Amino acid sequence: MADIIADLWYKNAVIYSLDLESFMDSNGDGVGDFEGLSRRLDYLEALGVDAVWIAPFQPTPNRDNGYDVSDYYGVDPRHGSSGDFVEFMHQAGNRGIKVLIDLVVNHTSDQHRWFQSARSDPQSEYRNWYIWSKKRPKRWNQGMVFPGVQTQTWTFDEEAREWYFHRFYNFQPDLNMDNPDVRAEVRRVMGYWLQLGVAGFRLDAVPFLLESVVDGEIQPELDFEHLYDMRRFMQWRRGNGVLLGEANVTPADTKRYFGNHGTGIQMMFNFWVNQHLFYALATGDARPLVAALRQTQRIPGMSQWAHFLRNHDELDLGRLDEEQRQAVFDRFAPEERMQLYHRGIRRRLAPMLGNRAQLEFSHSLLFALPGSPVLRYGDEIGMGDDLSLNERDSVRTPMQWSEELNAGFSVADRPITPVIDSGPFGYRAVNVEAQRRDPASILNFTRKMIRLRQETPEVGWGDWSILRTGSRHVLAIRYDWRGNSVVTLHNFAGAPCEVSLRVGAENGQRLSNLLEDDILVGSEGKHHVRLDAHGFAWFRIGGLNHVIRRERA
Ligand code: MG
Repeated sequence: MADIIADLWYKNAVIYSLDLESFMDSNGDGVGDFEGLSRRLDYLEALGVDAVWIAPFQPTPNRDNGYDVSDYYGVDPRHGSSGDFVEFMHQAGNRGIKVLIDLVVNHTSDQHRWFQSARSDPQSEYRNWYIWSKKRPKRWNQGMVFPGVQTQTWTFDEEAREWYFHRFYNFQPDLNMDNPDVRAEVRRVMGYWLQLGVAGFRLDAVPFLLESVVDGEIQPELDFEHLYDMRRFMQWRRGNGVLLGEANVTPADTKRYFGNHGTGIQMMFNFWVNQHLFYALATGDARPLVAALRQTQRIPGMSQWAHFLRNHDELDLGRLDEEQRQAVFDRFAPEERMQLYHRGIRRRLAPMLGNRAQLEFSHSLLFALPGSPVLRYGDEIGMGDDLSLNERDSVRTPMQWSEELNAGFSVADRPITPVIDSGPFGYRAVNVEAQRRDPASILNFTRKMIRLRQETPEVGWGDWSILRTGSRHVLAIRYDWRGNSVVTLHNFAGAPCEVSLRVGAENGQRLSNLLEDDILVGSEGKHHVRLDAHGFAWFRIGGLNHVIRRERA
């Protein structure tokens, strides 16, 4: 029977996010590369991930971690060659691992030849690929993405004798998406990488991409047609291709990104849930997360949320109110050096949470959120951060593979990013090799949870509802799909508790524990569940002998 669930693979996929630069260096130059990543595909396959999302790897002056691209049609020589990329794609494909890459087209590097041409000649065919103003715009020093580090959004260019617009740093001039030639070029870039086999794109800075600027003024309305065009083009070229949008917006605003009946982008990172999740973790009260989940529940059937704990940026808390944000700072980033841009936290998950129980809890929670989980490299082994590094570099240190030199990441004398080599998160204490051997390691826990998640397709595919538990500390979700049902419970409190709940299904008398050898039999439709401090439980409603098919297209 033809079944579309293989085509809509992103509805229920475990995605692993990594930065080539810090993952694995094969040639000893201190920079991670495609050959190194290819060698680690066995690791990713054994971990059980369905897809990887690779941060920008195209040629770049690298002043913003590669998010300043100077050529969209190649591989930065530090990371290898186009041949290495194709070889990597082939090997990933052999293992059934899909590859998403970053598409950073809100802006280019100022070193891109388009900008070089545009600034040097008013008659250049590339002049209108960027956004210029003869006069200094009124709001030239407003709307910065990196407040405190960046001081303006319009900069006077000596060569062009005009001001140019840059939402991000001044070395990242915004492309003029109102120019049809720019849109055509973006399609060409997409077509190029799709032809090389990528499964889709993580679309960087989407709201900024959709901005129009007229006479030095940013227009209040975003132009979503650009986004829908990109989606259409991608699907013409690759039927099951996916756009995964980075847009930290309110629940009401997300509707236009997904579009009517799913004509917009298929996936969005759920920043709203992410921030309320950390607020719930900080306070032990699950209700803010419950509210955030409900506020983002109604999305088109073909769309999906991407949930995450941490990513390559700061933990952005900009959508919380001041009191909420302070509560998260107090719990997870009490020192000023742990905070960034007055809105976020530049720490890794494990040191932030501070203990094993909460680390396991938050991973279980990630896999239980209705959507597709995105795991940040290193979090599966509980890697730490390096606060002595600049801004967001604190969470971008090399992957810790073993106890060998430079954590087994590189044989170079000095890797481009320093390895964490001391303290409780140093590579001798935290690495893949040691955790592989230890059945009780966080790595093996994460593997087990990925497997569990893949055996419970209800979570990604199903309808879901919040169950009442009578406790503000406990989040209970029930998921239903194709006649099967699962219930997960998570206790946000630092103390054990017992809750009673009605799962409300016809066959709901028996709850089979999916993590332990335990079957709960309810009475009068009611179950009592004991949870440890930061405890969690996954149950299948009814017996375990349901046929669960693993989908891996
Ligand atoms: Mg290298």
